Amino acid sequence: MRYPTTVNLPFNHEVIRYSFVPLLPGREQPVGEGIWLLLQGNSLLVATDAGGKLALPAGKLPAEVSLSAEPLCIGLYNGVPLRLAAVSRSVALPPEFLAEPFNAAGDRLDDATLSLGGIGMQILHWQKKSRHCSSCGSKLEPLKWNWGKLCRVCNYEHFPAIHPCAIVLVRRGDEFLLARKSEWQPGRYGLVAGFLDMGESLEECAAREVLEETGIVIKNTTYVGSQCWPFPSQLMAGFVADYASGEIKVDESELEDARWFRRGALPDGLPPARSIARWIIDRYMLAAD
Ligand SMILES: [Zn+2]
Repeated sequence: MRYPTTVNLPFNHEVIRYSFVPLLPGREQPVGEGIWLLLQGNSLLVATDAGGKLALPAGKLPAEVSLSAEPLCIGLYNGVPLRLAAVSRSVALPPEFLAEPFNAAGDRLDDATLSLGGIGMQILHWQKKSRHCSSCGSKLEPLKWNWGKLCRVCNYEHFPAIHPCAIVLVRRGDEFLLARKSEWQPGRYGLVAGFLDMGESLEECAAREVLEETGIVIKNTTYVGSQCWPFPSQLMAGFVADYASGEIKVDESELEDARWFRRGALPDGLPPARSIARWIIDRYMLAAD
């Protein structure tokens, strides 16, 4: 069994460990030109660099790109300020800018850009969802040195909500359990996954999701790694488990199909390379001993 290691996947900090130094709220904002992390709806604004590669825009912004609010410097990227802002969907972009869909399926943004974009998406999502106190409705104020907010009326402190999910690959001899949702492209299968319930450990969540969705009971549930999943704010905790008992009985409200696959007879489609689902499949299914 392999011990869990840092998962070097896009959206995780490991990818930008040596190039990005985060700057927490309340710290002095650096001056001078830098790089832009601009989100327009669910797209990241990029420019084409000299080599034809998509890159975050740098330097002075063209006048047409008006920002919805004062930009926020969220850190230094390769030594220069990285500023985050939302751009209204109604803003018509100049020709040198491109709104690149920021999702799990695209493959045009590099891993570092995805990881920075993920942080930006989560910060903007949190800022949008934390304007008012959910207890009393008063306006919230930012706390210093972290992303939390304070309600001065009821004195409640609010912190960014990151939702944990368990995702699991189940083994039975030389077979592996994969499942598909009806909204996925034809032929694509992935892993069973779901949100943590209250009063549940991640291992219990993995076992419950597999039982509820496929009718299979699992054992030896082992944590293998995790991935930040900023759509909009999840943490995917990855597991492998062994089959214990049961026959496949698909919960049709959640899945279209679930079945056992042998390593040599994989489905036509697998999860995108940037996902922990694929990382687990590649590492524990394709490369299994
Ligand atoms: Zn309050």
